[in-house]
Amino acid sequence: MIRDAFNLQGKVAVVTGCATGLGQGMSLGLAEAGALIAGVYNKSTPTCGDEITSLGSRFVGIKADLADLAQIEKVVEATVEAYGRVDILINNAGIIRRQPALEFTRKNWDDVLDINLRALFFLCQAAAKRFVLQKSGGKIINIASMLSFQGGILVPSYTASKSGVMGLTRELACEWASENINVNGIAPGYMATENTRALQEDPVRSKDILKRIPANRWGQPDDLRGAVVFLASSASDYINGHTLAVDGGWLCR
Ligand code: NAD
Repeated sequence: MIRDAFNLQGKVAVVTGCATGLGQGMSLGLAEAGALIAGVYNKSTPTCGDEITSLGSRFVGIKADLADLAQIEKVVEATVEAYGRVDILINNAGIIRRQPALEFTRKNWDDVLDINLRALFFLCQAAAKRFVLQKSGGKIINIASMLSFQGGILVPSYTASKSGVMGLTRELACEWASENINVNGIAPGYMATENTRALQEDPVRSKDILKRIPANRWGQPDDLRGAVVFLASSASDYINGHTLAVDGGWLCR
């Protein structure tokens, strides 16, 4: 039955950046579909653990600074220690720096690329190695952006990183499809989270953005639940290298 294909009962999902915004929303969605969650965080302890447990699922928090490659390797190890396996990786952690390109600093370049692209790649690699070892296949979902498709303004390192995320998602999908590993992306539109706080608080930009969204509202973390469960489930087994926009129609405008 097709509805059974969306069931994630007993699957183990690693979600980076699980303590806030979209990562928290996706963790809850995956748990509602039955997945056990290994939530990666770097600052405040995630509050979604209790909610996930009350859904009848399980939550383990893994503290790691993804700017540090040594800590990235430990994420998959810690998940296997907790649950015995890994089935799903959601590469959601990401940062943004806003500064005109003419003045853009080396630090604002490196910081963003290190998290949004380097950490994402090495987490993909660590998860895929585990999937191959388990002979299980697996699902990787990389969080891209509207700026995987468009240029944006004042965010050169973010646009470069998110365009890289979409390209890398295609590349890894080609390399690993034969191992039954699906690598896909989700490109959120303008979502009301910390990442977009500066835009939400800018009366001119926020009004302009809202005017251009056909759905006539900013997105919420809950809006990603359907897409993430679909791409994490066997319902999407023949989808490889695709980045799915969840944007209230922004891109088709
Ligand atoms: P957010 O700032 O709430 O989430 C980012 C998460 O990444 C946080 O939980 C943060 O702790 C984590 N993180 C940052 N640096 C880290 C590090 N060094 N080590 C470990 N974790 C780290 O914002 P969000 O909107 O929920 O962003 C989630 C993802 O969605 C990001 O990749 C972002 O680029 C992407 N995105 C957001 C929007 C939007 O409109 N909000 C749109 C497109 C894409």
